[in-house]
Amino acid sequence: MKIPGGDILEDQYPYKALYLHIPFCKSKCLYCDFNSEAISSNDEAIERYVDDLILQIRAASRADLLGSLDTVYIGGGTPTHIGNKELSRLLYGLSLSMHLTPEVECTLEVNPESLTEAMVKDLFALGVTRLSIGVQSFDDEVLKTLGRAHDAAQAKRAIELAQIRFTNISVDLMCGLPGQTKESFIASLKTAVDLGVTHISIYPLSIEEGTPLHGLMERQAFAETEDDLGEYAAEMMLLAQEYLETQGFHRYEVASYAKPGFECRHNKAYWTGKPYLGIGRAAVTMKQNYDERIRMMDSQVQEELSRPEYLVEDLMLGMRMSRGVSVKFAVQVDEEVPGALDAFKELIDSGYVKEVDGRFEPTEKGWLWGNALYGRLLELA
Ligand code: SF4
Repeated sequence: MKIPGGDILEDQYPYKALYLHIPFCKSKCLYCDFNSEAISSNDEAIERYVDDLILQIRAASRADLLGSLDTVYIGGGTPTHIGNKELSRLLYGLSLSMHLTPEVECTLEVNPESLTEAMVKDLFALGVTRLSIGVQSFDDEVLKTLGRAHDAAQAKRAIELAQIRFTNISVDLMCGLPGQTKESFIASLKTAVDLGVTHISIYPLSIEEGTPLHGLMERQAFAETEDDLGEYAAEMMLLAQEYLETQGFHRYEVASYAKPGFECRHNKAYWTGKPYLGIGRAAVTMKQNYDERIRMMDSQVQEELSRPEYLVEDLMLGMRMSRGVSVKFAVQVDEEVPGALDAFKELIDSGYVKEVDGRFEPTEKGWLWGNALYGRLLELA
């Protein structure tokens, strides 16, 4: 069903995107607060976990939930840490449960230390179309500060291995890191571009309580304070935009740049309110039903949103993309959530949003200070 005139909500059901979660890593990075555990790649818990995923995928297929998928994303953790045999079993089970044709965007997250040539060839043969490599930096000192399990040489080698079969290759880079200079950050960007990747995501460091990095910051182990790092991250995000735009990349989402045609469709499904199914330990499911006017997160129903709440959430998610939301959609939301248009007027006055060709789009300031922009919209619900 479709919200009348809504430009970002269509074809709401059945599921358009599938997320499979692999919660295992070689070791824990010092900044990580994701749901993942460090485990030996030979541990039999991995085989049991994959067995369970396959059973759940088969059950979802029998329940007719996998017939309309446009995208699959296998994330973690570190999916490549479970090894070629377990990944192949998983993909084989998946391909018998859905139409895993080349038209389906199937992304697999990769960490440089665990990608092999045989794995690249098998992943490609079994239906993976896109690799997303967690590089974070090509500076060994910075990688050590983060406690990553790989060095810069392994990261470069992983990209070259991926290119044996794939052109749709993304790398994740981080900015605003302790000890990271602007020169180091730009050098990492340049290395990624020179190696020929087609998509780059850039994340500012978020220092989460309870992580070893948080402890180090508390003990002032670095020259920079948390505020310094936030400022540096904002500057680096601007430098990234300037540089990547000269290299043929465009920013289509708050954290992501792509060469034309290499935007991540799975990301876009999240930001445009498409229902998605999550399978695995920390996977989230989002389903919408406009007749009942609820949106549920997770099979255990962690969150039940009222219609005004999910309309506001859709405005907020839409503003994570460079195309923003149409004024028409905002007007429709305003009818059910009074104050929505006033919020956009305020955001325009404070420089976070601009109105272009009948659309509200984030400005550069809006990209950089996204929390202020999204926070103002979320206040509406
Ligand atoms: S590889 Fe990712 S999920 Fe694993 S410990 Fe590092 S940041 Fe966490």
